[in-house]
Order: sequence, then structure tokens, then C-alpha cells
Amino acid sequence: MYESALARQVLDTVLQRSVFHRTSRIRVVRGWVAETESLSSERLSSQFATHARGTPAEGARLLLHLIHVEARCRTCGRTYAPEHHLLRCPVCGSGDGEQLGQTGLAVTAIEVD
Ligand SMILES: [Zn+2]
Repeated sequence: MYESALARQVLDTVLQRSVFHRTSRIRVVRGWVAETESLSSERLSSQFATHARGTPAEGARLLLHLIHVEARCRTCGRTYAPEHHLLRCPVCGSGDGEQLGQTGLAVTAIEVD
């Protein structure tokens, strides 16, 4: 579900740029996604393919570097990988956590015909 929203954002970014470059057909999209939960690259790719149908990005290969942004527990000091956007320490159960990096996404390269 979450992958669907991210795939949509990636597609919007790609299409905005492809209009600018007046490209015919997008073949490969490279970039990265940083999130506070583990992402499935397979699901991201399949959602992207679904959203891209009927656009210049239809059939494009998505090569995204998935970054799992970690958090540090303010109670016990443990560093952990959050799930589902919730900062909850797996060791002591504290919800008082500090996110250790920025989340977001970027498209770094688009290969076209
Ligand atoms: Zn803790």
C-alpha cells in the first residue's frame, strides 16, 4: 500500500522531467527512496508499472536504492530500524525515539530512447 504512494510520487517526478526534456519513451529510472520502514523493491516496481500504464514511462525499469532510515531510542540509547513509521524501541518498548536521517525520494537519472 505504501509502495503504491511512493511509486506514484516517483512517476510524477519522472513525468514532470520528461515533459521538460520532450522525450519519447522512458526506459530506465534511477534514484533513491529513504523511509523509516522496510520497503519491497518488487512491490515498488509492480506499483510503478501499474501507475505508468498509458504514460511515456510505461514499461520503464525502476532502479531505486532503498534506504531504511534508522532511529535511536532516547530511553535506552539503542539504534533500530523502525517499522510502519512508528518509532518504537524493540528493546525497551519506548516510543520516544529520534529519527537519524531524512526521509524522501529523488530521481537521479532517467534513460530514454
Ligand atoms: Zn529503548
